[in-house]
Amino acid sequence: MKPRCLALLPVVLLAAGPLRAQTAAAPVAPGLSAAAGTITGDDVMRRVGIIADDSMMGRDTPSRGLELTAKYVADQFKRFGLKPGGDDGTWFQRYPITRRQLQLKQSALVFQAGKVTARAAFDRNARFVGGGVPSGPLAGPAIVLGGPLTPDAVGGMALKDKVVLYVPDYRSPSPANSGQVLRAIRVAGPRAIVSLANLDSTAFAARVPSYAPERYGLDLGSGVPPNVEVSDLTVAPALRAAGVDLDRIRDAGKVVGQDVPSLAVKLDLRDSVLSKTTAPNTIGILEGTDPKLRNEYLVFSAHMDHIGITPGQRDSINNGADDDGSGTTGVIELAEAFSRPGVRPARSILFITVSGEEKGLWGSRYFSENPTVPLDHIVADLNIDMIGRNWRDTIVAIGKEHSDLGATLNRVNAAHPELHMTAIDDRWPEERFYFRSDHYNFARKGVPILFFFNGTHPDYHEVTDSPDKIDGEKESRILRLLFYLGQDVANAPKRPEWNPASRAEIVE
Ligand SMILES: [Zn+2]
Repeated sequence: MKPRCLALLPVVLLAAGPLRAQTAAAPVAPGLSAAAGTITGDDVMRRVGIIADDSMMGRDTPSRGLELTAKYVADQFKRFGLKPGGDDGTWFQRYPITRRQLQLKQSALVFQAGKVTARAAFDRNARFVGGGVPSGPLAGPAIVLGGPLTPDAVGGMALKDKVVLYVPDYRSPSPANSGQVLRAIRVAGPRAIVSLANLDSTAFAARVPSYAPERYGLDLGSGVPPNVEVSDLTVAPALRAAGVDLDRIRDAGKVVGQDVPSLAVKLDLRDSVLSKTTAPNTIGILEGTDPKLRNEYLVFSAHMDHIGITPGQRDSINNGADDDGSGTTGVIELAEAFSRPGVRPARSILFITVSGEEKGLWGSRYFSENPTVPLDHIVADLNIDMIGRNWRDTIVAIGKEHSDLGATLNRVNAAHPELHMTAIDDRWPEERFYFRSDHYNFARKGVPILFFFNGTHPDYHEVTDSPDKIDGEKESRILRLLFYLGQDVANAPKRPEWNPASRAEIVE
């Protein structure tokens, strides 16, 4: 898991929900407990032993061990009779990973108003901050944003397909705010974000790298707007000619959102691709039994990748048995139980093991941007990351307070005392785990989630996170609880619902 930095959320306390009305009770299929019984401690140990074996070499993204793991998961899905849920009728969704470098001298940002042209160069007075690099030059209607902006104020503006000229005040910066404001701008779907920096030319030059660093990662292409920064001294003449007075905007003391029709902004970023590869997500689908509800999906997810090898010690292989061999095993065992005769639920179930989680949630990010089933048909994501260690009788469920999935879990849990397993609330809200594994990419797109997690331990991200330390018997009881929870969610007449305050805070 990787730390993510995002806005602090208000803590919303939600009592356990009332018992569901009689009419809404899920049908109890015969053979339910027999199906749950296929999830055994021995099975868990066997599968974790395969996935976290030394021969998988720590399942780095990309790597041969990761490919072997992806294939193993697909083979199991096939055995259970699932349908392939990846690209072109395959079990795999492959996403692009590239190593790129910006060509500084060939890239340019041009502002033009009437006869006045201002050109900023990326080796002197402009710099690339982040986002995607489009395949060709980009232009769009310009809008200037400034003053004491808040995410709410930004949310009320029409920014879609515009080039946003963002005017922060570097003389009195409020860093806590600017990150949130930039995020709100990005979410509004502009074509590009150009931050205008009020720094003198020497100070700005110090921010411009003399050579562009290599960027290695998930290639989201033109789906994410580029964010660049330019010295405002360079473009001020063109802005003035278009009737934009930056000093007045900075001193106004009120929010400014001003369309500038007389200004043309062109951004031409040139990237060289140094290397290209791909990595897999493995996806299997169990079709639901209800002719209408089978178009909706419950997702079970876990990440099959880990951090590879750490050379320089006698045992250099990070097995990642708990992180997240335990969750990958969990998704496989759940697929097996759900595919038993007679327990197939009304809704379809999409089982997905993603990769690139340790690199920054790559696989789930790609799936959430390029879903293989319509995203708004996904009713919930139940994500599993590390459930094979620590306490024998409790498992933390993160996100219970954000949707009615919390109350559903409480009710299902209470109905199965024989599991001797209690799902408890987030023990470490200050760690913000809600934002740190793959479920977050579902949540930010509006899918209610629960995240099952036993907490970290001294072997976390060490070569000692090995299969022999997994408590398979305990994990099997967590998975049976997840099986019953999944049955409830996938058979309920109504989809899970967000707590409105949480939706407003989390969903982009
Ligand atoms: Zn993990």
